[in-house]
Amino acid sequence: MNANQTKDFQSKLKIELDSVRCEFLNELKDAQHEFTGELASMLENSTPGEWIDLAATKINPNQFPRFQRLMELEAALCQIDIGQFGYCCDCETKLELHYLAKDPAQQRCPICEEKKRKKVHN
Ligand SMILES: [Zn+2]
Repeated sequence: MNANQTKDFQSKLKIELDSVRCEFLNELKDAQHEFTGELASMLENSTPGEWIDLAATKINPNQFPRFQRLMELEAALCQIDIGQFGYCCDCETKLELHYLAKDPAQQRCPICEEKKRKKVHN
């Protein structure tokens, strides 16, 4: 992957991150639970960089797919920063460009992804 391609993925990830943050906040506000309301105001009073740590103490990511997505997007952006973007986090295979193009936040190659799916369901 060259620098331009990485930049391209980075800007896609950032755009999605902004919209997922906004949707997640709205979801929390609409959920009408005391703890989600509290969390929403906590998040509004902190910088987006602190969101994941704050929210992780209050909610179960499995119940909030948008929060899960938020973590994936931030992980991918962090990998770009440290120059590790585009590799499978389990077997370290280089991910194919067309595969990343479908989802730049992809963390695993198709083989490891499949293995992980099986583990979760069995
Ligand atoms: Zn792999």
